[in-house]
Amino acid sequence: MKFTHTPRLTIVVPCNNEAPVLPTTAPVLADLLTRLMHERAVATDSKILFVDDGSQDQTWPLIAKYTQEDRIFTGLKFSRNYGQEAALMGGMQTASAYSDMIITIDADLQDDPRLIPDMVAQAHAGYDVVYGVRNDRSTDSWFKRTSAEGFYWVMGKLGVDLIPNHSDFRLLTQPVVSALMDCQERKPFIRGIIPQLGFPATKLYYKRQPRQAGVSKYPLRKMLRFALDGILSFSIAPIRAVLYAGLVICTGALVMLLWILVQHLRGTVVTGWSSIMASLWFLGGFQLIAISIIGEYVGRTFTEVKHRPRFIIQTDTYTSSFARQQSQPTDTVAFYRKHHVLKSGGHS
Ligand code: UDP
Ligand code: MG
Repeated sequence: MKFTHTPRLTIVVPCNNEAPVLPTTAPVLADLLTRLMHERAVATDSKILFVDDGSQDQTWPLIAKYTQEDRIFTGLKFSRNYGQEAALMGGMQTASAYSDMIITIDADLQDDPRLIPDMVAQAHAGYDVVYGVRNDRSTDSWFKRTSAEGFYWVMGKLGVDLIPNHSDFRLLTQPVVSALMDCQERKPFIRGIIPQLGFPATKLYYKRQPRQAGVSKYPLRKMLRFALDGILSFSIAPIRAVLYAGLVICTGALVMLLWILVQHLRGTVVTGWSSIMASLWFLGGFQLIAISIIGEYVGRTFTEVKHRPRFIIQTDTYTSSFARQQSQPTDTVAFYRKHHVLKSGGHS
């Protein structure tokens, strides 16, 4: 998409108990955004939107403080923890009402924010989707790296088009965001949906940094849940796999039957206790797995048909910031100049 005017950018930052890292993140992002405004790459009323996903710590008071101090910051507070995907969807949905493009980035600065100007440049060049892709995960633990590789491998085998080593650091233009919002599922697997939307896309590479402060919100249990959600919400391949396994076992059973018949006719009838027990256990186990997989899908249908809201917003200072602005127009560039000392070097 080519812009006919200076595009308004919103940087959406999901935050779940990120109070330790926000004092580092907020000025870095504000500085970058202000710089982009000065270069006229983005509109002067571009925003940073923090989405507080049910934090228990000082995250919301901090966001509220930033919002009061500087109009570049806005906030969205969920009524409870809905998960990162919901925080991203909520932030993007709210921002899309006023934004020409949206960048989503983690609060912990693990995704290199210095890539943001390049992302904006790619959007100006006509790309609607710009993926941030990690080309170096050496700061991640061995377990995190290996499990992520395993996940991409499984998803690839299941025919889900994922961008390897891309998480949720990306730029989307407004048409892509509204297409994404049209996907009505309750539990959207965003990084699987976006490649399927089919807009012009490009990739930018960066080195994944260690978390600046605070702790990871993805313990093993939550990571497995996320991987399973990704697989089950995108593919019926597990059901197929069970079907094929069932067919193979049935064919095997036919061969076994012939063999048993031959043995029977030859008169060498064995007691056969062990083989019966073995097949009993094996088939019992197999049936349980099959039932559990079907159950997963039934469960998913159950949650989807309820059409519950994906998230509930308790407070929204993003939308009100624009309402405020429309009633009292001010010279925003002068405001940013006053409030941000622009550094000449990098941001790290
Ligand atoms: N996050 C969120 N809701 C959650 C879990 C995480 O909004 O329920 C946010 C979190 O605050 C961070 C981003 O999602 O900005 C990625 O989380 P984290 O850095 O803990 O994940 P990791 O980098 O360890 O995979
Ligand atoms: Mg992180």
